[in-house]
Amino acid sequence: MDAETRLYGVIGFPVRHSLSPAMHNAAFRELGINAVYLAFEVPPERLGMAVDGVRGLGVKGLNVTMPHKTAVMEHIDGLSGDAEEIGSVNTIVNEGELLGYNTDGIGARRALEMVTRLEGKDVLVLGAGGAGRAIAYELSKTSNVVVLNRTPGKARALERFGVIGDALTADNLRRYIREADILINATSVGMNSDESPVPADLLREGLVVMDVVYKPLRTRLLREAAERGCVTVDGLWMLVHQGAESFRLWTGKKVDPELMRGAALEGLRKGW
Ligand code: NAP
Repeated sequence: MDAETRLYGVIGFPVRHSLSPAMHNAAFRELGINAVYLAFEVPPERLGMAVDGVRGLGVKGLNVTMPHKTAVMEHIDGLSGDAEEIGSVNTIVNEGELLGYNTDGIGARRALEMVTRLEGKDVLVLGAGGAGRAIAYELSKTSNVVVLNRTPGKARALERFGVIGDALTADNLRRYIREADILINATSVGMNSDESPVPADLLREGLVVMDVVYKPLRTRLLREAAERGCVTVDGLWMLVHQGAESFRLWTGKKVDPELMRGAALEGLRKGW
């Protein structure tokens, strides 16, 4: 580190278990970039001050995580088309002005593309929170998307992307999963618990199943899906690919997703 060292970071609350510092610092080291990435725990009432700090100190870029992804929009200077459509920012680039982007959708797309093509596929997304919105928006560009959500109005609001939005009920799940090529859990069900949003008997061989939840890495949904012959993609791949896209926005450089994943896995092993 020296006077030239560029500073990046993530703001969230809580954020101390974030895997992003490990992923990005590994990438900076690998590519020989003189930069560091830190985690900043920012309570909601300090969000405006934190963004002012970014301007004042010349922090080059930020990731934004819960609970600030929507609230931060009013503190920055501009939005990419994706961030504006989704109503959520997970990446800020400081180019004198602070510009907000959302890389969650592209992260999910690239994670899925590791195992399948997406053009023309039928995709069932469970959840219409921040992750579900970003995924529905991104995948609607190439695929036929249905979004089911516990609060149905939030799923129906996504029909502006050309998707079908409906209630997450047992009947709807049974009906739509039959037609789906790809199932994505974008709810928080299964996070730090052994629950699954999908009864195991609905999972059939050949279905591609992705979970956005990555703590635990092998969620109950992914375990049951693998047992039934589904192709599975864990949420850490989405995290890695969204991180790699943020990194590209900040530095213009591509990073090997395997390198970021290795660093994130080490963080998970340490209990982060
Ligand atoms: P969020 O905006 O709070 O949305 C939570 C979603 O989960 C909503 O759709 C909510 O439904 C649904 N939900 C919560 N409890 C439920 C339950 N018991 N039954 C059915 N639905 C339930 O959160 P988020 O930002 O979208 O994050 C969701 C998950 O994705 C979290 O676990 C987060 O860690 C993970 N995530 C992963 C990545 C990645 O890169 N892998 C990126 C972003 C987020 P209602 O609308 O009805 O409340």
